[in-house]
Amino acid sequence: MKKYWPSAVMLAIFETVAVTLWLTKDNIFYLFNFSYIGLSISFGVFLFIRKYKHARRIVQLLVGLYMLVYLGLICNENMQIEGFWYYLFTGVFEAATIHYAVAKIFGPLIFGRGWCGYACWTAMVLDFLPYKAPEYPRKKIGWIRYITFAASLVFVAALFLAKAGNMERIMFWAFIIGNLVYYGVGIALAFAFHDNRAFCKYICPITVFLKPMSYFSLLRIKCDKDKCISCGKCKRVCPMNVDVTDNSRKRANGTECILCMECARSCPKDAL
Ligand code: SF4
Ligand code: SF4
Ligand code: SF4
Repeated sequence: MKKYWPSAVMLAIFETVAVTLWLTKDNIFYLFNFSYIGLSISFGVFLFIRKYKHARRIVQLLVGLYMLVYLGLICNENMQIEGFWYYLFTGVFEAATIHYAVAKIFGPLIFGRGWCGYACWTAMVLDFLPYKAPEYPRKKIGWIRYITFAASLVFVAALFLAKAGNMERIMFWAFIIGNLVYYGVGIALAFAFHDNRAFCKYICPITVFLKPMSYFSLLRIKCDKDKCISCGKCKRVCPMNVDVTDNSRKRANGTECILCMECARSCPKDAL
């Protein structure tokens, strides 16, 4: 049973957040929300410990579908970056702002880009595509993320400046259209660049938060140099082009690691 403690710890962390938010904000939604996410992640860790091949994909579907369908479509909560700006401007510290604070701004200091590997509903679809490991070298077009980041901010600021009516409705439609655009662009780029995660690497505005915060991440994949035979397998299977054999924080594409564990799984010497 001892080997399952990470699964229990994960559940305990999320339950602590769930109960704290429930009691401080006097809203039982937080108990349900974070308990569900905690149970999903804890179940995924349990499957991972049992070496189940699709553990990560199961968590991704459990959490991603919940966010997209339940929170986004049923509860009308815009969980995309526009929703974050919107709730931030209105001074409402509710689901979208809490979600960003936990998963994408402060959480990455602990679990890096675990969000990108285990919960994002955009990547949940992109990971079904055929190019699991990139077939070509990385392109130098990552600057596009700053344009999409600025565009999301300008869009929401413009709505406020124009004093647009029925903002809740506009944000709901922005969520639907935004997701369709993300999926369309993400799938087109994956096929154009033979890389499922091309959208994550070059376009996604959320990486403007995720990358600098995950630089300091507590959870990192490290290489045991005494075991490593420099076969290069780990780099070939990495969907994010991380130079995982370099243990420094400045390693090539270090802030891109999504903790998918493909490298560790493929290492013939258990060096990762
Ligand atoms: S980079 Fe963006 S689209 Fe890709 S997994 Fe992370 S949050 Fe999702
Ligand atoms: S393969 Fe390894 S280094 Fe690459 S993203 Fe996954 S966990 Fe990180
Ligand atoms: S797969 Fe393992 S042995 Fe091969 S280079 Fe990577 S860490 Fe070293």
